[in-house]
Amino acid sequence: MLLEGEGALGTGMSVKATETCKGCTSSVKVTEAQIERLLSKIKPSDRIDDDSYKTRLEACASCDGLAYGTTCMHCGCLVRLRASLKEGRCPHPESQVNPKWLA
Ligand code: SF4
Repeated sequence: MLLEGEGALGTGMSVKATETCKGCTSSVKVTEAQIERLLSKIKPSDRIDDDSYKTRLEACASCDGLAYGTTCMHCGCLVRLRASLKEGRCPHPESQVNPKWLA
């Protein structure tokens, strides 16, 4: 779907309206290589153990807050980075009463 004209501040610009978040466009999509490069920069001492990391990512995979398979819509983080951190916490609004991440 394409929106044109007045909806784009009367500039005649076209806005592709296939994304769920107006602030997120194809420019926020990242590649596997980019994610791996970012993960490699995290100090081992800051990382959570592998089993907990996997459990967190499984929760993300079934969460309605996951966009593009990579990004949390509640905080804008790449979930693989956030989930890899010992101090990482799930930002889901229901996390206080119904935590998505148990580790
Ligand atoms: S809200 Fe929590 S479980 Fe859902 S995608 Fe974000 S970090 Fe993952």
